[in-house]
Amino acid sequence: MKYAALKGMEDILSPDIAIWQAVEAKARDIFARYGFQEIRVPVLESTDIFIRGIGQETDIVEKEMYTFTDKGGRSVTMRPEGTAPVVRCFVEKNLHTLPSPQKFYYMGQMYRYERPQKGRFRQFYQIGAEAFGVAAPAMDAEIIMMLANLLEAAGLSGLNFELNSIGCAECRPVYRQALRDFFGGKLQEYCPDCQRRYEANPLRILDCKVPRCIELRQGSPSVPDYLCDACRTHFDGLLAILDSFEVPYTLNPNLVRGLDYYTMTTFEVTSEHLGAQKAVAAGGRYDRLVAEFGGPDTHAIGFAIGMERIVTLLKESSQTELRAPKVFVATLGSEAEMEGIKIVEMLRAKGVWAEQSYGSTSLKSQLRRADRIGAEFALIIGENELKAGKAQWKNMKKGEQGEVPLSEVMQFFMEEC
Ligand code: ATP
Ligand code: MG
Repeated sequence: MKYAALKGMEDILSPDIAIWQAVEAKARDIFARYGFQEIRVPVLESTDIFIRGIGQETDIVEKEMYTFTDKGGRSVTMRPEGTAPVVRCFVEKNLHTLPSPQKFYYMGQMYRYERPQKGRFRQFYQIGAEAFGVAAPAMDAEIIMMLANLLEAAGLSGLNFELNSIGCAECRPVYRQALRDFFGGKLQEYCPDCQRRYEANPLRILDCKVPRCIELRQGSPSVPDYLCDACRTHFDGLLAILDSFEVPYTLNPNLVRGLDYYTMTTFEVTSEHLGAQKAVAAGGRYDRLVAEFGGPDTHAIGFAIGMERIVTLLKESSQTELRAPKVFVATLGSEAEMEGIKIVEMLRAKGVWAEQSYGSTSLKSQLRRADRIGAEFALIIGENELKAGKAQWKNMKKGEQGEVPLSEVMQFFMEEC
């Protein structure tokens, strides 16, 4: 019987894991500076949280959710994204009663039953942020600048920030009607998905990837022409801040995003080095979602970064270094082995990665292991060395070697570190 991981679910291990950990550490550092607190919400939630949060007429809810009935007969879903659970928590715990704004970040697995391909998995990781309680465009700007800083700190460059405003409950219906008027004439020529979207949510036709649909929608009404005064002022306010800080962006009037909860500002960060799945991060404002969940009217905005796509980019642009121990202690005989374990433990207590030989094999095979795991130094303690109170050291990379009294081993390696 052979066991294998499920399709679309990846193991992440060395050497890639070092890139993951470095990105996560950078992200935590940036979030701390911007006052975002970590939040850990469950991976499993009641299914209606996602139907309500993401919207019935979306790819995620229509076809991608890992939904099943638990032993108690409840319909539960493995989270396909982080915003709906965070909003559920915000409302359930009455977090609007705390000083505003409340700012959160999360990191973790998401699950979508998609066709696995380059950049698309069934279990994938997101780093996300959500800020509640501010209507002003200064918050949109802060979120976008924080995202730009985070991606730069992670080591990414040459990314494209696409920006749009998709309006609010005031102006969206007018725009939606203008789209229907435009698409209506040739509706039969669009793909079956788009024909359904026409009724349910015509904005999503702008998001369709089918080449014929892309062709047909050339010249469709542009959302910026339909924004109400409040949305226009908000968007102009955001652009003014970004311009004054010289944050680069491209306006993309077709950027509507696949989730229903967005209002006003939407954005997507893309890379030209990823092929078809080129979005590395995406987000936007969702001013109606907290109320949808039964909370008070609360402004909110957030983003999510796709970790796998970021790691792919970082792997292309930088060498992954295999981590290796500083010292390998090789010993011969049980007394020397005790001395070896003592030294290894003392080095570890000082923060140095040290490895031992785990029982006696020949010196030759111990040194071979030291070499294979890439240890910088080997420290050799045989019976004679032990009697003389000394050890031999060998720099495995430079080929240099020498002797050091056992009483000075710690000092020797602390100086070398
Ligand atoms: P796409 O258009 O690629 O399907 P999406 O709109 O479904 O993206 P979001 O829900 O906005 O994606 O998720 C934010 C980010 O999470 C995406 O920009 C992407 O980097 C990443 N992401 C989404 N789905 C997957 C997946 N199945 N596998 C890996 N990463 C993903
Ligand atoms: Mg998707």
